[in-house]
Amino acid sequence: QVPHRRLPSWLKRPLPESGGMGPTARLIEELGLETICESGKCPNRSECWTRKTASFMVLGEVCTRPCGFCSVPRGKPEAPALDEPDRLAEACARLGLKHVVITSVTRDDLPDGGADHFRRCILAVRARTGAVVEVLTPDFDGDTSAIDTVLSASPEVFNHNIETVARLQRHVRRKSQYPVSLRVLEHAKRARPDLLTKSGLMLGLGETTEEVIETLADLRSVGCDLITIGQYLRPSPKHLPVERYLPPGEFDELGRVARSLGFADVASGPFVRSSYHADRLAAGHHD
Ligand code: SF4
Ligand code: SF4
Repeated sequence: QVPHRRLPSWLKRPLPESGGMGPTARLIEELGLETICESGKCPNRSECWTRKTASFMVLGEVCTRPCGFCSVPRGKPEAPALDEPDRLAEACARLGLKHVVITSVTRDDLPDGGADHFRRCILAVRARTGAVVEVLTPDFDGDTSAIDTVLSASPEVFNHNIETVARLQRHVRRKSQYPVSLRVLEHAKRARPDLLTKSGLMLGLGETTEEVIETLADLRSVGCDLITIGQYLRPSPKHLPVERYLPPGEFDELGRVARSLGFADVASGPFVRSSYHADRLAAGHHD
């Protein structure tokens, strides 16, 4: 984490109150689950959990890819836990969640990239809750049959983050590629036009405003419905440095540009994360 004294004033905000989060955190731990809210030390935790939104990471805590911005360790993951979908559904039901985000590490070691596990997780949460389900998937190496497997469980929102502009992909995501991410979103929209597609960008990694706008246009060209735009924060000194802290006004302006390009809804601001205000973004745009 970047020391607070070096953060610009708009990124300093009080630590989230812990009141009310203890029981949630305990239940998640008891069921052996992982949330991005906690593992990512997300600054929006208390707000999101109060809004009955949480973001769960399935398929383990070790990733097969080495992105330079991400705090998930790289290594050889274990086989998927077959009871994880049930444990996830149990947590969602007991917490009364209204919007559930299911994400995972990238599993290049699995023949289907973990797609069937996503499918089972969506169905299990559906069976136990009335929550809106949003998946935030890896790129499955562009394998359209894996994407179809996930879509077969009809998540209300299919989210895949392009993360950064085309020029910086190799620097930031290393093994993941811009055209593959665009194709993933394009395929999802073509295959299931009734579902919402969504993507996200982190800013402050050295991109220019023109490049951000180009990326937004590229996402719209493949029918992407929703977009999140947030500030990249360095998880540790081993990760990519922050090149720039964008002032809130620039996020507002980019939000306006995104709307003018035709996104159905946009979240743009320094604290915006992929699943921030996920309930609001999806609300009113799905059946
Ligand atoms: Fe969790 Fe996402 Fe909210 Fe952060 S923004 S607390 S990761 S749901
Ligand atoms: Fe992190 Fe996803 Fe990259 Fe893995 S693929 S290192 S989980 S951002």
